[in-house]
Amino acid sequence: MKPNIASADGVDVEQVEIQHLVVGVGVIGLAVAAEHSRRRQEVVVLETGSRIGGGISSRSNKVIRSRIYYRSDSLKRRSCVEGRRLLYDYYAERGVSNWKCGKLAIATDDRD
Ligand SMILES: Cc1cc2nc3c(=O)[nH]c(=O)nc-3n(C[C@H](O)[C@H](O)[C@H](O)COP(=O)(O)OP(=O)(O)OC[C@H]3O[C@@H](n4cnc5c(N)ncnc54)[C@H](O)[C@@H]3O)c2cc1C
Repeated sequence: MKPNIASADGVDVEQVEIQHLVVGVGVIGLAVAAEHSRRRQEVVVLETGSRIGGGISSRSNKVIRSRIYYRSDSLKRRSCVEGRRLLYDYYAERGVSNWKCGKLAIATDDRD
């Protein structure tokens, strides 16, 4: 980081040069920031809430989505499958406990 002082409308403000700025630090922002950090790149995070991860991310039920809700040709489905694989790899590498309990899907009409 290279701080310097500049004047905006007669008011001195501090300008800072940074490589990466992540605005909003839920699970996505944190993952992006962590990846930059892993690559030894400078990253600064900005969060409007009173704590990191306190937004929607704090509401999650922690279910690892399987893919069944998404259209088979969709990016969402491909991302879900790939993300799930990466997440289980991440858990295995770091010894994070998790429960792969499966899911029972019940068809309630002919369309299902
Ligand atoms: C009840 C509930 C249950 C869920 N259960 C699951 C589940 O079991 N499995 C699953 O995979 N997903 C689940 N989800 C979905 C999942 O929680 C979200 O998709 C995910 O947390 C979104 O993360 P995010 O980082 O994109 O957003 P957020 O967690 O919302 O993070 C965005 C952050 O940006 C900050 N921000 C916003 N604007 C600004 C700004 N201008 N400047 C600075 N900061 C800003 C916010 O304060 C917030 O902290 C659930 C969601 C809900 C609501």
